[in-house]
Amino acid sequence: MRAEVISIGDEITTGQRLDTNSQWLSQQLTQLGCEVAFHTTVGDELEDNIAVLCVAIERADVIVMTGGLGPTADDLTREAIAAATGTTLVRDAQSLAHIQNLYASRGREMPERNQVQADFPAGSRPIPNFHGTAPGIEMLVERTGREPCGLFALPGVPVEMHEMWANTVAERIGQLQQVQTVIRHRRIKCFGLGESQLEAMLPDLIRRGREPKVGITVSDATITLRITATADKEETCLATMEPTITVIRESLREVVFGEEDDELEHVVLRLLKQRGKTLAVAEWATAGRIAEWLQAVDGHSNVFVGGMTINDRADLDSMSTSAELNAEIEDHEPAVAAVMAELVRHRLRADYGLSVAAYPPDPYRADSHVCMALATEERTHKWRFGCASHPAILQARTAKQALNAL
Ligand code: ATP
Ligand code: MG
Repeated sequence: MRAEVISIGDEITTGQRLDTNSQWLSQQLTQLGCEVAFHTTVGDELEDNIAVLCVAIERADVIVMTGGLGPTADDLTREAIAAATGTTLVRDAQSLAHIQNLYASRGREMPERNQVQADFPAGSRPIPNFHGTAPGIEMLVERTGREPCGLFALPGVPVEMHEMWANTVAERIGQLQQVQTVIRHRRIKCFGLGESQLEAMLPDLIRRGREPKVGITVSDATITLRITATADKEETCLATMEPTITVIRESLREVVFGEEDDELEHVVLRLLKQRGKTLAVAEWATAGRIAEWLQAVDGHSNVFVGGMTINDRADLDSMSTSAELNAEIEDHEPAVAAVMAELVRHRLRADYGLSVAAYPPDPYRADSHVCMALATEERTHKWRFGCASHPAILQARTAKQALNAL
């Protein structure tokens, strides 16, 4: 079934409020197996609301709309549905009693104006709202020569809307779906290449109309490949995804570091735990970012033993007696990274010491680099990582590159 989500309210169209309802509803609809084909946002204008609804009734099999069910003059959803479906508003005695009781239980008198919240387009049903005054509206809108369209109007208040979805709407939409389609997703996580480089390594997978679909998104230099399959059964979905996942893994090999919610720090800690090794980190350019990520992973406090951040060469000089560290070496040189890695490994008695030295004076120059090092019992590995990238993602990228190298 194709679905359309409609958000109503000037606070959304003017940008005062972020439309989180559409995001949440789309996730729920997708889980139910609906294909969310449209998101529409419309202000508090009756004519615009009617126009939007008329279009949606034609192109979607299920419509979920939020907002505009309050008692004030700018709450127009009731009128808009009645006009778009060619019906009139009828007052519902039971809903009116519910609203009156709600006011009574709060020790207040119901304002006259609130009566309109008990008005419903003829042929629709109220959706109970146990914690708010505005009941929702459920209506099957007839369409000539086609299945009727399922229309659901819910209040804009997210908590009320969530509750009504869970209590009533999800089940109703399930009933509307004659042929139940199942949609399943898998995610493969990659790091170390740019988006287009990575795409070039995949044999024609990111093509429109392919089944299962493969999509690619990037966040802080982590690339996620999202595989989406649609079928009538869960098992069929999972089975059709397998060959695609095999092709991806074989094409990208070590660029793939995990699946689903995995981040680099989860994978690093898992591997260290399997091998019974411990890790400490010393950070300058990344200012504790790596330690923060490692610390946030539950159940690994005996693997990640701790870290230190360095912000000034004097700190390092006072802690280290290494002969390598002489006054002429710049803060961003490999030797500094090596001293940091050895120092933290030694001080925190870890099997591995991982370090990131300082940024060079101009880290955004095309040829600039950050030095990193990994100290083990046998030796210390040092390497340079080209750090020219957008300042907004540079730190995360540098931190991830260090974890990835480990
Ligand atoms: P009420 O009975 O509270 O008047 P309503 O159905 O008229 O309910 P609105 O007045 O449109 O709903 O919105 C009520 C609250 O919900 C506001 O705080 C608004 O910012 C929030 N809200 C409305 N729509 C959305 C949305 N799409 N995403 C997130 N929050 C929203
Ligand atoms: Mg309102």
